[in-house]
Amino acid sequence: MKLKVTTNILTANEKIAEGNEKIFAEAGVFVLNLMSSPGAGKTTLLEQTIARLKDRVKVGVIEGDIAGADDAMRIDALGVPVVQINTGGACHLDANMINEVLGDLPLDDLDILVIENVGNLVCPAEFKLGEQMKVVVLSITEGHDKPLKYPVMFQESKALIINKIDLRPFLDVDVEKIRHDAISLNPDITIFEVSCKTGEGLDAWVSWIETLIS
Ligand code: MG
Ligand code: ZN
Repeated sequence: MKLKVTTNILTANEKIAEGNEKIFAEAGVFVLNLMSSPGAGKTTLLEQTIARLKDRVKVGVIEGDIAGADDAMRIDALGVPVVQINTGGACHLDANMINEVLGDLPLDDLDILVIENVGNLVCPAEFKLGEQMKVVVLSITEGHDKPLKYPVMFQESKALIINKIDLRPFLDVDVEKIRHDAISLNPDITIFEVSCKTGEGLDAWVSWIETLIS
């Protein structure tokens, strides 16, 4: 019975996500759902990505957090349109939350809309928002066991960004295992190793994004 309820929620969500997808397609905006556990560096990656893209590409952002507007304020400081969603306790964004804020963004003017999901490696992967692509960020401080422990996140993502790679000399983390396990779960996944602190790997990631939206 419990499983049935969950299935119904996901089905209802999928219908709303399809509606969002149509709206995005009509506006001609590419939508990326950015996911990770808390503290992996999604917002910092987004700041660095926007800084590199914004002269050529029109970026908009939806920030999802349980509470607070810190992340939206950081994005707002870069001068790009941003809306903060507070889920009020829910540990993921759903399609309805996205649908409700679409009127607050200049969708027709945007080339790419990045939705930063709530920090959580579990259910954000299961709730479609109407995006064209999911991307997962994993900080090497989280350890190398995460892909096999949270497989859905890695199976659903088109790209894996291994972040904070500058900390590698200080950690007993097996980055090759992260790569190997992610590829075993999803042979098509594109992997980037980046440091938002030193800038390593960011140009490769940003060029990849540009080829997708051009
Ligand atoms: Mg954040
Ligand atoms: Zn959740």
